[in-house]
Amino acid sequence: MRHPSRWQRLRDVILSTDPRRRTLVGMALLALLLMAGSAGVMLLVAHASSTVNATAVHWWATLSVGGLVVMTAFIRCGATARLRDPSLTLPQMAWTITSGAVAYVLAGEARGLVPSVLAMILFFGTFGLTVAEVFGIGIYALLAFACAIAATTRFSANPFGYLDTAYALMVAIVLGGCIALNLRIQRIRARLQQQREALAQALDINRELATRDELTGLLNRRAMLDLMELEHRRSLRNGRPMLLAQLDIDHFKPINDQHGHAMGDRALQAFAGTVRANVRDTDVLARWGGEEFVLMLCDTQPDDARELLERIRQAVEALEIPHATGTLHMSVSAGLALHLAGDSVVHTLERADQALYTAKALGRNRWVVAPSTPHRPAAGGTALNARV
Ligand code: GH3
Ligand code: MG
Ligand code: MG
Repeated sequence: MRHPSRWQRLRDVILSTDPRRRTLVGMALLALLLMAGSAGVMLLVAHASSTVNATAVHWWATLSVGGLVVMTAFIRCGATARLRDPSLTLPQMAWTITSGAVAYVLAGEARGLVPSVLAMILFFGTFGLTVAEVFGIGIYALLAFACAIAATTRFSANPFGYLDTAYALMVAIVLGGCIALNLRIQRIRARLQQQREALAQALDINRELATRDELTGLLNRRAMLDLMELEHRRSLRNGRPMLLAQLDIDHFKPINDQHGHAMGDRALQAFAGTVRANVRDTDVLARWGGEEFVLMLCDTQPDDARELLERIRQAVEALEIPHATGTLHMSVSAGLALHLAGDSVVHTLERADQALYTAKALGRNRWVVAPSTPHRPAAGGTALNARV
C-alpha cells in the first residue's frame, strides 16, 4: 500500500477524508479566503483614509471573517452533515451580505469597492440554492443594501451626490444581474438533473431488457448463467447444496400448431407463473430458450428438491388454460442434478439435461435425478428409483 504524501496528509487534516465533506469544506474555505481578502482591502482603506473609522473597520473585519471561520469549523467537524443544507450556503451568504452592507457604510468614499464584492458573494448562490432561496437571498440583499444606502445618506456630512447615486445604482445593477444569472443557472441545473434521472431510468430499463425474458418476465439465459456462477462460488465457500433442474414442456409444438403461436405464448406464461408459485423466493427460475427452463435451488436438500419437482409436475398437470374451443392442458418433464463441489456449472447442467432426456425417453410427465458422478454424465433413474 502506498503511503500518503505529506501534502495529502495535510489536505486530509484540513479538509477531512470524507469526499463529500471535503468538497463542502473546500467551498467554505474559498469563501473564507475571499472574505479575508476583502477584509484586508478594507483595512488598507481604513489605514490610508482619514475619513474612515479604523476602529469600526477592525471590528467589522474581525466579525466578518470570524463568522465564516465558525461556520467553516462547523462544516469541517461534521456538525452540519445532517442538515438539509450541510454546506451552510444560505447562512454564509446572509452573513457576507450583511457584512457587505455594513462595509458599504464604513468604507466612506471607497464604497465603490463593495458592489464587486457583492457580485462575488451572490455568485456562491449558484452552488446549491433553490430558486426560492435565490429569490429570498436576493430580497434580503436588496433590503440590506437599501438600509446601507439610507444609512450613508443619514450619517454623511455631505449631501447625496452623483457618486452616491452611481454606487447605489451599481449595487442595484449587480444585484439584479446576479439574481438573473443565478436563476438561469438553477434552471440549467434542474434540467441537467431531469436528464440525469431520465438517463438512470433508461439504464434501468436497458439492464432489465438485457437480463429478463420479455414474454415470461423470468431471467434470461445469460443472466441465469452469471447467477449460477455466483451461487457456485458461494456454495463452494459455505458448503451448502446447490441443485439445478432442466424443465421442458412436453409436446409443446402441437400446442402452437393446433392453437396458434399466441396461445403457445400464453401457455408459456402460465407455465412460468405456475412454477414460480411453487418455489421459494430464493429459488430462481429462468427461461433457457423456447419451452425450456432452468430452475436453481439454493440451500435445498436433495430430498426436498425431489418433493418440489413432484409438486411442480402436479401443478403443471393440473393447469387449465381456457381457449376458444375448450381447455388446454400441459405436462412437464424435468432432470435434476446436484451440483458437486469442484465441478463446473456447465457440467452440472449437462447432467441435468441428460436426466431430462431420460425423463422424455421414459414417457414424459416425470422427473429424473442425475447420478452424482463427476465429469461422467450418465442416464439417471426415474422418479421411482432416482438417487442423488
Ligand atoms: P418434447 O416433448 O420432446 O419436448 O416436444 P416439444 O414439441 O415440446 O419440443 P420441440 O423442441 O419439438 O418443440 C418446441 C416448440 O416450442 C417449437 C417452437 O415453435 C416452440 N417455441 C419456442 N419458443 C416459443 C415461443 O416463444 N413462443 C411460442 N408460442 N412457441 C415457442
Ligand atoms: Mg418440449
Ligand atoms: Mg425443448
